[in-house]
Amino acid sequence: MTEARYAAACRRIPGGVNSPVRAFGAVGGAPVFFERGAGAHLYDADGREYLDYVGAWGPMIAGHAHPEVLRRVRETVDRGLCFGAPHELETELAEQLCARMPALEKVRLVSSGTEAAMSALRLARAATGRDRILKFAGCYHGHADALLVAAGSGALTCGVPTSPGVPAGAAADTEVARYNDAADVEARFAARGREFAAAIVEPVAGNMGCILPQPGFLETLRALCDQHGALLVFDEVMTGFRVGPGGAQERYGLRPDLTVLGKVIGGGMPVGAFGGRAELMDRLAPAGPVYQAGTLSGHPAAMAAGLATLAALDAPGFYDRLGERAAQLTAGLRAHAAAAGVGFETVEATGMFGLFFTDRGPVRDYEDARACSAEAYRAFFRRMLEAGVYLAPSPYEAGFLSGAHDAGDIERTLAAAEAAFAAAAAAQRACRA
Ligand code: PLP
Repeated sequence: MTEARYAAACRRIPGGVNSPVRAFGAVGGAPVFFERGAGAHLYDADGREYLDYVGAWGPMIAGHAHPEVLRRVRETVDRGLCFGAPHELETELAEQLCARMPALEKVRLVSSGTEAAMSALRLARAATGRDRILKFAGCYHGHADALLVAAGSGALTCGVPTSPGVPAGAAADTEVARYNDAADVEARFAARGREFAAAIVEPVAGNMGCILPQPGFLETLRALCDQHGALLVFDEVMTGFRVGPGGAQERYGLRPDLTVLGKVIGGGMPVGAFGGRAELMDRLAPAGPVYQAGTLSGHPAAMAAGLATLAALDAPGFYDRLGERAAQLTAGLRAHAAAAGVGFETVEATGMFGLFFTDRGPVRDYEDARACSAEAYRAFFRRMLEAGVYLAPSPYEAGFLSGAHDAGDIERTLAAAEAAFAAAAAAQRACRA
């Protein structure tokens, strides 16, 4: 049945999916068509149940079909879908974001993370009068031309680190540095520091698996931006309200000039946001000359879902539980991997985690991530899927937990993982041979 649905989709939709990360190219077979979600579980169109570790790629931190999120969305859409005019829920969400992230004095709400990152860089360029951007290999900031360079994630899975169709001119001002390599960043700032409008970074990288910043890396970046008059942009589309109540910036005690948000702040509805100091944000039209606009920006249903999701995160101990589950999961997986003789590393950052099939030790950057065994991941993924555990269909994606995952779910996952590691071990041996 899945095959038939996929074939029908492929007839009318390129590759059968509306975002490449949903394809199963890296793991084989047809993508699962889901029909329903509840808590930590998804149900496919044939009624089969799965334990979900994708969480719609991040937004579903409160779990699928969270009653309060659905209630607020229903209450909102009953009054009409959208007005193309100000709505109080926009102000309410903006207030919430600013209250939770002190680096935000004002925010602009948009419809996707791509739009937010692209617009934040336009603002940074306008504010500094410079064109050059520094980004990091393996960090993804959406698919705007200037940012689709060494972009990790779906592009990496598809083997097209920089997409055809990106004009050389659009990417000419994008310089790519090595993630977690403070010396590389220092050298680039020494060479062209005065040309950089901004450095944009995922403070915890989530698009080449999940990779933590090494001590001093983000601090060096902050200091160099200050020294050279460049703006520091934290892309917290993935990490925002996932790695802690104030995002990665709170976790690492740093204040970016601009912050890019998405995913969690829309609770599963299309959303994005970017924000920072009022003095910067007031350069945006209509307060200032930097043009940025959107017919559906600040959509009431998205605001309602985002507000209800953020409220769910305020439950006492929410992040502690999320972190405990992540630790329980990764420790259990490491134990099974060791027993199976599989080279395997894990990373956890409260509500997100990374799984790496590698013999090279801890994964710190794009090169390390690319050196992992795609074959072992594929074998592992297929066995887990057969056992009803839905992981990201690519070795280069982070995993996501929700508040709905309980200890029993983790135990079930670990029970399935025992056999899956045996399959991964066989794949890894075949590759080494
Ligand atoms: N920035 C980061 C860190 C992301 O992970 C993503 C998407 O995964 C984006 C930006 C783009 O967001 P969207 O897919 O909503 O356009």
